[in-house]
Amino acid sequence: MALVISSAFDAGNIRVVKQDGGKVDLEIVKDHMSDFYQWFYFRLAGAAGREVTLRITNCAGAAYPNGWPDYKGVMSLDREEWVRIADTRFSGGVLTMKLTPPQDVVWIAYFAPYSMERHHDLVTQTAALEGVGYRSLGKSLDGQDIDCLQIGEGPLNVWLYARQHPGETMAEWWMEGALEKLTDEDDPVARVLRKECTFRVVPNMNPDGSRRGHLRTNAVGVNLNREWHAPSAEKSPEVLCVRNAMDETGVDFAMDVHGDEAIPANFLAGFEGIPSLSDRQLKLFNLFGETLERLSPDFQRSQGYEVPAPGEANMSMSTTQLAERYGCVSMTLEMPFKDNFDLPDDVYGWSPQRSKHLAYACLDALHGVLPELKAAKAERGTAKREKVEA
Ligand code: ZN
Repeated sequence: MALVISSAFDAGNIRVVKQDGGKVDLEIVKDHMSDFYQWFYFRLAGAAGREVTLRITNCAGAAYPNGWPDYKGVMSLDREEWVRIADTRFSGGVLTMKLTPPQDVVWIAYFAPYSMERHHDLVTQTAALEGVGYRSLGKSLDGQDIDCLQIGEGPLNVWLYARQHPGETMAEWWMEGALEKLTDEDDPVARVLRKECTFRVVPNMNPDGSRRGHLRTNAVGVNLNREWHAPSAEKSPEVLCVRNAMDETGVDFAMDVHGDEAIPANFLAGFEGIPSLSDRQLKLFNLFGETLERLSPDFQRSQGYEVPAPGEANMSMSTTQLAERYGCVSMTLEMPFKDNFDLPDDVYGWSPQRSKHLAYACLDALHGVLPELKAAKAERGTAKREKVEA
């Protein structure tokens, strides 16, 4: 039987260019109405016991060419466990993956996928738990709901949101971990967090891009994390509805969860270049990072993005926009597509399980900074009252 490759399913992305026996040349398809591409996910059938050579030939033009060196693809036999394809090489703009599948139907992807079907299972199961509220904040352009789960009843307003960039599926694995911990009746950290905070959790900001198999944009090719200064119903209703809901509640702490193609480490990006940057805000951000670094060997603070100069922040991004808008502490968490090279795992690389463990550690770190977070909120409240009275 000839090899059969398909991607016409939830989150699938690939195009077959040429096929010659066990050798197949492939291309990643661009996001609709955009030039971004890097996410791939396809099914390979008819290859049991045969060596197959899969070449993705358009890697040089992908969104992050530095994502390919030292990267290994993932393969699954059951769409639950995803292992790295050991013989993955990158050379001359071509990613070559060689494998001998042990069974007829196998699945191959850029990172362990998180499909919309799994998203619906997560939302349904979590919303059914005691003490969890559900609200649809609005609709995407394809008509999908922007799902939001509410947990806890404390005065601190915490927003966790992920997958503005749909191809960064580790972000929703992280969310699955965060929701597991937050709803654990016996977890002492979760019990305190539920008492002190009200969490609003948006596990997937970009359901259209997720289902369409996009890397970075929504149904009309818009990068949602460049819309936060001026979201619109036409181009970015996903951001508009979430930002409106944030305006209703106010925000004390926010985390935007992402994946980074190139850097083989977990790191945070902050809001250093915003116009109204306060000392207290910055100290709290640094304290959170230090606390997380102490708690998780998978987190570090030496590698990351360049810090913008004072006043040079890009205000179209959520982290900077929220820090400026609410005077809160907000941050972007980046996880690797490759691995944490300081603590590598040859079989799985960075993985769903490790993304979940990082989520547990992030919530532990949030618990660790609660006293400072509460003090910062009280101070902002006083400042606001003084402004009104003046
Ligand atoms: Zn991202």
